[in-house]
Amino acid sequence: MSDPLRPGATIGILGGGQLGRMLSVAASRLGYRCHIYEPGAAPAGDVAHAVTTAPYEDEAAIRAFAAGVDVVTYEFENVPASALDLIESIVPIRPNRRALAVSQDRLEEKDFLCGLGLTTAPYARVDSAADLAAAVQGRDRAILKTRRFGYDGKGQVRINAGDDLDAAWAQVNAPSVLEGFVEFSAEISVIVARGQDGTVAAYDPGLNVHRGGILRTTTVPCGQPARLIPDAVLLASRIVTALDYVGVMGVELFVTSQGLVVNEIAPRVHNSGHWTQAGCAVDQFEQHIRAVAGLPLGDGRRHADVVMENLIGDDMDRLPQWLARPDTQIHLYGKAEVKPGRKMGHVNIVRR
Ligand code: AMP
Repeated sequence: MSDPLRPGATIGILGGGQLGRMLSVAASRLGYRCHIYEPGAAPAGDVAHAVTTAPYEDEAAIRAFAAGVDVVTYEFENVPASALDLIESIVPIRPNRRALAVSQDRLEEKDFLCGLGLTTAPYARVDSAADLAAAVQGRDRAILKTRRFGYDGKGQVRINAGDDLDAAWAQVNAPSVLEGFVEFSAEISVIVARGQDGTVAAYDPGLNVHRGGILRTTTVPCGQPARLIPDAVLLASRIVTALDYVGVMGVELFVTSQGLVVNEIAPRVHNSGHWTQAGCAVDQFEQHIRAVAGLPLGDGRRHADVVMENLIGDDMDRLPQWLARPDTQIHLYGKAEVKPGRKMGHVNIVRR
């Protein structure tokens, strides 16, 4: 364990989206500065001490960024390995590289989870149209997913019996996995944190509803049978402990009649954890900063019922209605242009 970061220290954040923005706000409350590294537009830059706008391939920029910070974390897991190698030669990266490697690749992720004895969707490696034809044998429904760079349902093709498999393969045309379709009754997620001393703290699981592959709402309590809650939390704890993880992780689960099935893990703060801003003394952003800074974890107990709703694209038109509601906490990400499917902000509706 390293010494906790002193007040005034600088945390480097790879990725400058809304997650980086909210991490930066949390870090500043704890007396830290943040330096954002982002190749494109950076909503996080508005609330950070410094911003580097450069591609991840720019060695000089990466080197200067790493040399100017005390620790590096990330809000975006698809940072190229070459940039991470260079950063790691200069300053620690938390969560560690293994967590990144596992979560960047759906095949490695599933191998890792199954190796822990956890249940995932049945899966097969697919590198060609012929692999796909073999993998769909005996399945009525399946989902072809690229191994890397998928998010919000992108890089995925749903396949039903009788579909044109060559066309399905042509849509992804990249190393992939075929997942058997999981008949689930609900999607929940656990936001779990692990500190540098190995302490694990998990938030209450939230119930997630997606629309068009994008998270729409998260509700706590999640309304699932009580016995599932400790199962979900223990399972998430096993994952972070096995990875010697430091920071916050999102663990997405399907609830099925056979028990919990792990969909995927995200080695970072997670959209389905935004409710913690209104529901807990220490939210997921502060918890992540505490972990990467080497501070003790905070109390993740829930003190309110919360519905988190994402403001996506035109949802921004309803902003006056949200502003008129006294029970609603509003978070806007400062993105100038509204686009369909773009996450512009979220609201936390506090129920108690
Ligand atoms: P993902 O990007 O892998 O989280 O998938 C996006 C959404 O697609 C999930 O939240 C589920 O609603 C659905 N989904 C993904 N994988 C499966 C699966 N194997 N079976 C059924 N639904 C799935």
